[in-house]
Amino acid sequence: MLKQKAKDMKKNCLQCNTEFTARRSDAKFCSSICRSKYWIKNNNPKQEIPSVQTQLRGLLSETNKEALVQKRLVEEKTENLQYKTLKKQIADPI
Ligand SMILES: [Zn+2]
Repeated sequence: MLKQKAKDMKKNCLQCNTEFTARRSDAKFCSSICRSKYWIKNNNPKQEIPSVQTQLRGLLSETNKEALVQKRLVEEKTENLQYKTLKKQIADPI
């Protein structure tokens, strides 16, 4: 049975490329800071994350647009109905 030496496991940090002594065989980073840096770099590829406010603003304007369209549709329908009713009343007065 081979005993794996956990000690003196030299590895290079994936983030800063510094050689470090890994305590675990699956260690990839010299520190938790490098791990999070690497994670951020790889999960947010250069693209700027829009702030919550920007997202919210976009969402609001979308909602407003949608609301306006809905309102217009309702108005058009109502106008049509009123027009039809009016036309009917004119054509067929009580
Ligand atoms: Zn590092």
